[in-house]
Amino acid sequence: MRIDGIEKYKEVGLKLTPQRLAILKFLEGNKEHPSADEIYKAVSKKFPTMSFATVYNTLESLRRFGQVMELNFDPYKKRFDPNPKPHHHVICVRCQKILDIQNEFSLKPPQIESEEFEIIGNHIEFYGICSKCKNESGA
Ligand SMILES: [Zn+2]
Ligand SMILES: [Zn+2]
Repeated sequence: MRIDGIEKYKEVGLKLTPQRLAILKFLEGNKEHPSADEIYKAVSKKFPTMSFATVYNTLESLRRFGQVMELNFDPYKKRFDPNPKPHHHVICVRCQKILDIQNEFSLKPPQIESEEFEIIGNHIEFYGICSKCKNESGA
C-alpha cells in the first residue's frame, strides 16, 4: 500500500493498528469482493487474536469514509469492494462470483419528477452465469 493511501486513513480518523493494516492490505487490489467473514478468515491466519468485531468495525469505518463499497445484492452475505473507481458489476446467479465491469457505457439518467434529488452516480448489477458454472452444468 502506498504511503499516501495510509495517510488518507489517518486523516479520516482511523487508528491504524497492525490488525487494521492487515485488513487494508488484504483489501488493496482485491478483486474477489470478499465478505466480512472471508476477510476475517484470511486476516486471522496472520493475527489469530483478531476478533470478527475488529474486522466488521474496520469495514464499517471504511465504508462510512467512502473507502469501500458495500454490495448488498445478497441479503445473507454482504460483500465489500475496495475498488474506489466507479464501476458496475456482473454477478453469477449460481456461485455469486462478482466481476467488475470497468467499461464505460452510456446510461441516460431517468427524468426524476422531483427536486429532492440530484443524480450524482449509478451502480448497475448485471446477472449472468460464470464460465466455471456454465462448464459444470454441461452446457
Ligand atoms: Zn458461477
Ligand atoms: Zn467491484
